[in-house]
Amino acid sequence: MLVTIEGIDGSGKSTLHQALGTALADFSPVITREPGSTWIGDAVRRAIREQADPVAEALLFVADHAAHLREIVRPALAEGHLVISDRYIDSRYVYQQVTLDGIIPDPLSWLRAVHSGWTIIPDLTILLAVPVAVALERTGKRGEGEHFEQEHVLSRVQEYYMRLVEEDPSRFVIIDGTLPPEHILRVASEAVRFRHAEQR
Ligand code: ADP
Ligand code: MG
Repeated sequence: MLVTIEGIDGSGKSTLHQALGTALADFSPVITREPGSTWIGDAVRRAIREQADPVAEALLFVADHAAHLREIVRPALAEGHLVISDRYIDSRYVYQQVTLDGIIPDPLSWLRAVHSGWTIIPDLTILLAVPVAVALERTGKRGEGEHFEQEHVLSRVQEYYMRLVEEDPSRFVIIDGTLPPEHILRVASEAVRFRHAEQR
């Protein structure tokens, strides 16, 4: 079973991801993330840092996803493991919709086409929803020079996440990311246990 954690920067994904690994220790989960800790993942981070061409950046993200599936996700699922990924396919569907806007006519269709036929759709996606202002506060980016642009980007990303939910509501569990971490952990781990029991 493949579980992914999504949400805007500062929504609490990594905090939950780490805690879920412990809370679901009885499943011996494989804990993983995108972009990965590989040279392709490094290339993605470099592309972001050096503000590479958006299409080049998007394709590096996709390359990272392909390597992640081959090296970690597929083998772990084949062995029957629970896999929990901090960010996955939806992160590209929403962030690259913003970065490719005005460069590619219909970025979401393009992104879907690029992934089609080889990716693995998650069984469950936990989406942490927090107001953009809270997320910016948490990541310390409030009041910075790029604050207004960042706020605009995150608002769009949040909206695109919600559109993905509308298209496939049964895949998602939305959790209010402003709740205390223990509360979020409880709701998330119960959602995973429930979905797991359902799939057996
Ligand atoms: P993400 O991985 O989504 O960017 P993080 O898990 O790194 O988010 O969390 C961003 C910041 O917010 C961290 O400083 C973290 O300690 C804090 N944080 C995470 N979850 C919560 C929560 N539920 N309530 C308050 N603060 C939180
Ligand atoms: Mg994180």
